[in-house]
Amino acid sequence: MYFIANWKMHGNLNSINSIDRVIKLSRISKYKKVRIIYCPPYTILGNFVKKTKSSKIIIGAQNCHYRENYGSFTGSINAKMIKDIGAKFIILGHSENRFTGDTNKIINLKVKSSINENLKVIFCFGENFDQRKKSKTFQVIKKQISAGLKNIKKKQNIIFAYEPVWSIGTGMILNSENLEKQILNIKNYIKKKLKIPNPKVLYGGSVNPKNIKNFKNIKSLDGFLIGGASQKSINFIDIIKKMIN
Ligand code: PEP
Repeated sequence: MYFIANWKMHGNLNSINSIDRVIKLSRISKYKKVRIIYCPPYTILGNFVKKTKSSKIIIGAQNCHYRENYGSFTGSINAKMIKDIGAKFIILGHSENRFTGDTNKIINLKVKSSINENLKVIFCFGENFDQRKKSKTFQVIKKQISAGLKNIKKKQNIIFAYEPVWSIGTGMILNSENLEKQILNIKNYIKKKLKIPNPKVLYGGSVNPKNIKNFKNIKSLDGFLIGGASQKSINFIDIIKKMIN
C-alpha cells in the first residue's frame, strides 16, 4: 500500500526534521510493506534524499519541465535534474498543474522524459465538478489516461492516482461504494487500453485522519496521494496507522 505525501508549495529547511517520526515508523516491521513516498518542493528535494537515505522512505518530485534536454528555460527543472538529485518518483498530471497550462500533450511529453530517466511516474487524473455534474466523469478520465500516456514505454513504471478535482482540498469525498466501483472501472480500462496486467491505482482528495476509515474496506485501492494532511507527521502517521492496523 502506497502513502504518498504531496507537500505542494509548502516546506522549507526547518521542515526536514519534522519527518523523523515517519522515518521511525517506516522501520517498524509491521509497516514493512507500506511504501511511503515524500514529494517535497524542489528547493528541499536534495535535503529529503539525504535525510531518508538509510530508511525505506522514497523521494519524489512534484512536476518537471517537458523538455528532456537542458536548455534556455528560465526557472525550469527537467527530469534529468530530478533524477540527478536522487529522487525516484515524480507526480505528473496533477490538476493544479493542469489548471495552469499542462495539456494532455504536455503531460505526455513530461511522462516520456521522466520514464526515459527511469523515474517512476505518479500519474494523476480526475474530473472536475462540472464534468461530474454532466456525467462526463469516465469520458474525461479515459481521455486523460489515453492521451497523457500515449506511446509510453515501461508502463510498469507508472502508478495511477485518481484525484477528483472537486475533492482536492475541499473535504468532500466519494462514498466508499462509488469509489470502489470507480477504481474497478479505472483498473479495467487501464488493463485493456494500456495492457498493464495489474495496475496500481491510488486515491487522492481530502484524505485525512478523520475520514480514512471510510477507505478501509475498499479492496481494489492500492494507496493514497495525500496533500494537506501529509504536511504534519502526526496526521500522516495517524492515516497510515488507521489504514494498516
Ligand atoms: C493533492 O493535491 O494531491 C491532494 C490529494 O490534496 P488534498 O489531500 O489536500 O486534498
